[in-house]
Amino acid sequence: MKLDRESVCVQGGYTPGNGEPRQIPIVQSTTFKYATSEDMGKLFDLEAEGYFYSRLQNPTCDAVAAKICALEGGSAAMLTSSGQAANFYALFNIAACGDHVVCSSSIYGGTYNLFSVTMKRMGLECTFVEPDCSEEELNRAFRENTKAVFGETIANPALTVLDIEKFAKAAHAHGVPLIVDNTFATPINCRPFEWGADIVTHSTTKYMDGHGAAIGGCIVDSGKFDWTRYPEKFPGLCTPDESYHGVTYTQRFGLEGAFITKATAQLMRDFGSVQSPQSAFMLNLGLESLHVRMKRHCENAQAVAEFLQSHPKISWVSYCGLPGDKYYELAQKYLPGGSCGVVSFGVKGGRKAAETFMKHLKVAAIETHVADARTCCLHPASATHRQMNDAELAAAGVSPDLVRFSCGLESANDLIEDIRQALETI
Ligand SMILES: *Cc1c(COP(=O)(O)O)cnc(C)c1O
Repeated sequence: MKLDRESVCVQGGYTPGNGEPRQIPIVQSTTFKYATSEDMGKLFDLEAEGYFYSRLQNPTCDAVAAKICALEGGSAAMLTSSGQAANFYALFNIAACGDHVVCSSSIYGGTYNLFSVTMKRMGLECTFVEPDCSEEELNRAFRENTKAVFGETIANPALTVLDIEKFAKAAHAHGVPLIVDNTFATPINCRPFEWGADIVTHSTTKYMDGHGAAIGGCIVDSGKFDWTRYPEKFPGLCTPDESYHGVTYTQRFGLEGAFITKATAQLMRDFGSVQSPQSAFMLNLGLESLHVRMKRHCENAQAVAEFLQSHPKISWVSYCGLPGDKYYELAQKYLPGGSCGVVSFGVKGGRKAAETFMKHLKVAAIETHVADARTCCLHPASATHRQMNDAELAAAGVSPDLVRFSCGLESANDLIEDIRQALETI
């Protein structure tokens, strides 16, 4: 029976047999036992399915990955130790030294650094484009050696909404896949595959876990990108892998399984950024209520954004659920059921006023975190970006008065009351 997304959140990925545990078991074992060396040899040759070492695969992690895969409507998925690892693997699986990628400039700072500094040291070049650029500008960013396009459904922290169809169209016209980091929207509010994306990544640390308990990541493949049409671009997927007994991933595992099998068999084998079974179990507890929580996060953010918009001490509010917001139309298209719980705004009086405001919040805590059950906020100018002066901040798109406010699951009344009393102290 085909289940609704809400039911997949609760029950997807794991179906116990008669007398088996109702909850996903935590298989806290590094290794697995076999009767003969021959049995084990077949696993190493990827000829038989089964577990042999938890760096490659673990039953708890696989069950949770299968749930996220079903939520996104993908063909295969894997968990990673963090969102950073997920984005690194997703890209490095198809692009390496001498290659090039096109990337939206409005992305998470950690990912920006990964692509523009660390992967550059590995010989990979990245061209950043404005997410709101024209199709012509976007197409001009491609080169002979371009291997992928990357963007975030809702960018952290800029809150720009990606025109997924525009980016997918350009990627496909150049014979490469679109990778979308869907962390802020989650598959509850947007399923990028339905708009042409080919691979989706997540920092499960955020809404999927939702309780600030465990760092984690996930990669999901749609199984729709036909690597075999461009064998010269994607030799890693279309020609024999000498490090794995000459297996050709697209031949042996089909378009549905090639990408994730290669990322597991090569990248996880060699880099080892696994999620622990304990963390996967906690992630699954979060997933069981993701659909209920996302609705509440979005309702609270909408109420907070509307309150802020009408407050005389607030200079501007950015939230794509507000009519008149720069991304309202794109959000209506891609995020009709809600976007996320993060709102950003400016406090009149700049840096000093923002600091005073934050100091007096009682419900919202100051944290370098978002997408948590507990409301938290950050003043980038005095925290993550504190080494920059006002001119440098402006160049980075962070104004000195900017407050990033991540609405949790408390009552909207309490959040608004908290903001109201803190604004009075300015
Ligand atoms: C947090 C975040 C990441 C990085 O994830 P970690 O789990 O912290 O490694 C990547 N992308 C987005 C959009 C994020 O918000």
